[in-house]
Amino acid sequence: MIIIKSEHEIEMMREAGKVTGQILRELKDVIKPGISTMDIDQFVERRVNEFGMIASEKGYCGFPGSVCTSVNEVVVHGIPSESCILSEGDIVSVDLVVEYKGYMADACRTYAVGQISPEAQHLIDTAEAAFFEGMKYAKVGNRLGDISNAIQQKVESEGFGVIREFVGHGIGKDMHEEPQIPNYGKAGKGPRLVKGMTLAIEPMIVEGSYEVDVLLDDWTVVTIDGGLAAHYENTVVISDGEPELLTL
Ligand code: MG
Repeated sequence: MIIIKSEHEIEMMREAGKVTGQILRELKDVIKPGISTMDIDQFVERRVNEFGMIASEKGYCGFPGSVCTSVNEVVVHGIPSESCILSEGDIVSVDLVVEYKGYMADACRTYAVGQISPEAQHLIDTAEAAFFEGMKYAKVGNRLGDISNAIQQKVESEGFGVIREFVGHGIGKDMHEEPQIPNYGKAGKGPRLVKGMTLAIEPMIVEGSYEVDVLLDDWTVVTIDGGLAAHYENTVVISDGEPELLTL
């Protein structure tokens, strides 16, 4: 069942979303060659706590970090580690869920570590651009497949691929609610969009094959061919007119 949120519930998510977006912006100045992904984790955890909120990924299904930090060929769910030191030319996705009074917001950005290749920058830019292509269809009366299709078209038109095994999702009191939101699919299919739906829309894209594998830690999702992956996500409210982006 897709849970439609009241204005009061959306207000909690708005507060969580502001903090999520703020911390992801701050990370631009934190992420540089020589830091570890654990440094990112500790920065985020401290900042979330300073806002009096909760970093919800910590302990979720046993996840050890406060955020997911996914470097280069890691698509999603990378575990922060002191031994994972970022180098010039790497890219790293940071996926953060913040909870305020029981309501969550979820967002992700992929960051350049120092100077990166034009190809890597193109991949990062395409993940973001595909999200905004999807947003053009995030309107009452459209169908979820309209968003999925727009994302897929944009990604593939740039010569990249869309991950199939992981998808976006509804969000609210739970991190993962219905509906599932694939980054591929047919326009005109899927549930109709209704005012008060709260959706985490998150293109996960790769430069090569979209096939993935999970490492022995049971979390880290990598591309099988070792190609780079990028990820861009915001929590979105379906409203009258334009969608509201809570985590921007
Ligand atoms: Mg996320």
